[in-house]
Amino acid sequence: VDSVGKVYSSSGNDLEIVLKDCSFEVPAGSLTVLLGPSGCGKSTMVKLIAGYETPTLGQVRLDGVPVNGPNADRIVVFQETALFPWMTLQENVAYGPVQAGEAKAAAEREAGALLRTVGLAGFEHRYPTQISGGMQRRAEVARALITRPKLMLLDEPFRGLDHMSRGLMQEYYLKLFDEHRMTTLFVTSEIDEAIFLADRLVVLSYKPTVVKTVIDVDLPRPRNFQMLTSATYGR
Ligand code: ATP
Ligand code: MG
Repeated sequence: VDSVGKVYSSSGNDLEIVLKDCSFEVPAGSLTVLLGPSGCGKSTMVKLIAGYETPTLGQVRLDGVPVNGPNADRIVVFQETALFPWMTLQENVAYGPVQAGEAKAAAEREAGALLRTVGLAGFEHRYPTQISGGMQRRAEVARALITRPKLMLLDEPFRGLDHMSRGLMQEYYLKLFDEHRMTTLFVTSEIDEAIFLADRLVVLSYKPTVVKTVIDVDLPRPRNFQMLTSATYGR
């Protein structure tokens, strides 16, 4: 993410500067966490990286190639649940490969295996409404993993879960990440979640006066703290 700025024009002619001069990197194979308070522009950043929005200034590059529109090499798990309610978990997870032309039986076999790795063995034939919120999140992660994207973008995947389930999901997710080493940008507004998960931590701050700094701490996790400046402060 190279010197990225984003201005939204909302209702009327009002312009809203949401991001100002943000630069950071998600190194290949890392679990990079983007931390910031509600409303600071985290989801906007995710949409810019995913190509659903275009930066007003600056550029996003993936493996050196400018991002220009959405693409299957970047998969987003959005803040809101995105499982199809009319499909079973297995069908949901197999959906991407089936759409891409893979045989249904093979895709569903792989989906079943992935559902087992996210701890959903025995739930393959349930519908999303028949499982808990935490289980839905895990099924979404399985659905993203099956497509083997170059970059996983997880936008507050555990938001709305109670403290205990959240802790379990974090441990679970970390194990899954260590198995797959899928390059990930994990977005959260919870500092304890960020510190628990991050290889590398990028902080999106509300204060435009904060200078970009990188703090290296002597811990396996987290490393490489980085402060960015959000333009949406004081409202
Ligand atoms: P949260 O933690 O609550 O999810 P966030 O950090 O993800 O917040 P964003 O959703 O990126 O924050 O929103 C940042 C700011 O951008 C908000 O003030 C919001 O009103 C504004 N915004 C977001 N999307 C749009 C849009 N499509 N048009 C206009 N303004 C927008
Ligand atoms: Mg958000």
